[in-house]
Amino acid sequence: MGKTRRKTGTTTPRKSRSPRPVRKLKFATDWTYSAAPESTDHVRLESRYGLFIDGKFSEPRSGRYFATISPSTEKKIADVADASTADVGRAVKAARRAFDGTWSKMKPSERGKYIFRIARIIQERAREFAVVESMDGGKPIRESRDVDIPLAAGHFFYYAGWADKLPYAFPCRDPKPVGVAGQIIPWNFPLLMAAWKIAPALATGNTVVLKPAETTPLTALKLAEVIQEADLPPGVVNIITGAGETGAALVNHPDVDKIAFTGSTEVGKIIQKAIAGSKKKFTLELGGKAANIVFEDAAIDQAVEGIVNGIFFNQGHVCCAGSRLFVQESVADDVVRRLKDRMETLIVGDPLDKNTDIGAINSKPQLEKIREYIQIGQDEGAEIYQSSCPLPAKGYWCRPTLFTKASQSHRIVQEEIFGPVLAVQTFRTVEEVIEKANNTPYGLSGGVWTDKGAKIFKITGKLRAGVVWANTFNMFDPSSPFGGYKESGVGREGGLHGLLPYVNLS
Ligand code: NAP
Ligand code: MG
Repeated sequence: MGKTRRKTGTTTPRKSRSPRPVRKLKFATDWTYSAAPESTDHVRLESRYGLFIDGKFSEPRSGRYFATISPSTEKKIADVADASTADVGRAVKAARRAFDGTWSKMKPSERGKYIFRIARIIQERAREFAVVESMDGGKPIRESRDVDIPLAAGHFFYYAGWADKLPYAFPCRDPKPVGVAGQIIPWNFPLLMAAWKIAPALATGNTVVLKPAETTPLTALKLAEVIQEADLPPGVVNIITGAGETGAALVNHPDVDKIAFTGSTEVGKIIQKAIAGSKKKFTLELGGKAANIVFEDAAIDQAVEGIVNGIFFNQGHVCCAGSRLFVQESVADDVVRRLKDRMETLIVGDPLDKNTDIGAINSKPQLEKIREYIQIGQDEGAEIYQSSCPLPAKGYWCRPTLFTKASQSHRIVQEEIFGPVLAVQTFRTVEEVIEKANNTPYGLSGGVWTDKGAKIFKITGKLRAGVVWANTFNMFDPSSPFGGYKESGVGREGGLHGLLPYVNLS
């Protein structure tokens, strides 16, 4: 059975500076792609996973397990242990023992070797990790294979290199590890977020208790296998699965020295309140509502591709997704038309199919939330456009969705939707768009598309966002710090900056 992708081509003046209607030539062709599913034969999965504590898998004290399903088939993949407060206590105890007994005392160059080993094993098992990530979380295999897994290995490689060079990272200071780090991560980049958290913690001599998200625990549990294979001393990394209560128990445990959290602003605020007055260090990487700004002098086709990459790929499940599009008035009609044409070519479907552009929404509640916002957008008076692609019968799916005639006061412009939903607004001047882009409680990321370097510097200096991309979007590198302003969080992860939250300096 083939899939149909309608390819449309258009010709328009490359840089149209006036609002006059552009001449539109359309070449419509019907392309049929045969299904190209990634093989799952090589993937080894247990039917039931325990908690990874003190170097081995063990039963949860509660005896409780929950199912992790594939959002594209709604079928159970495995049962996963539900860690109780007592299990959190066991994991923290193991991490403390490993910190005091081995890891903090180990020669930094030896620590580095273990981290390198983790990186290399992830690379060796990259295909398996990519398939499991797409099965458990719903993201297209192209994303997990080309982005998530290589970047996860890249983070371990990068921080392995720092392990014996910390005096160069903090000249004239004496960096000491903080102790036991409690780390809580979301479902949108499960393995990558685990790598962001674990790699800098280990490089600086800390031990770890990590809690993955309830809907995507499998690659973290596979990472536990890698940690066994790399022969890390028991207790240095502990991985415990569970729901929000497990995360809360980790946050509130008195023997945890640092909390590293990535997730929603709502839970970030709960965590900040819970640890207020304690000596726990913390970093919070929270929500976002990025502005993607297109000027009339931009390379429009590249910008359209960047907009699609910024909000539709990965189902919009990206904290830094370019969910607010600002287009200069003179090119707005042209950009929106090309965007709609491009949206029509996107394939929504089986995450394991290499043709797929947009995979499954991560969970049923998340799909319901996105649908609710799509309704809110229409009720608020914005004009909706959705691509006409077919959707599979089973699973959680959302067509790429565009809202024009959106305004600053609309909830679809102000609130994080975390789905493939884009709200478009227009602007006339640089000052106006800076004002509009900054008018949000968030400040995680942004993008600007223009031919003029001076304009890029002017805009990037004034956008209150942790990362601003110029003539590209959603690009990551382990050596580059990431983090937010305002309600998008506190602290930085990645790069040299990512070492700081894991050390005490004297
Ligand atoms: P979430 O609901 O805040 O959950 C994040 C993690 O916290 C999950 O492991 C969750 O467990 C756990 N958790 C829930 N309640 C908790 C509590 N009271 N105490 C401690 N932990 C608790 O966020 P999400 O829906 O999984 O992820 C989406 C959000 O993450 C979006 O807002 C997105 O913008 C943000 N995000 C930010 C970044 C960044 O770098 N700034 C990166 C990625 C994602 P359960 O899964 O079991 O609920
Ligand atoms: Mg799942």
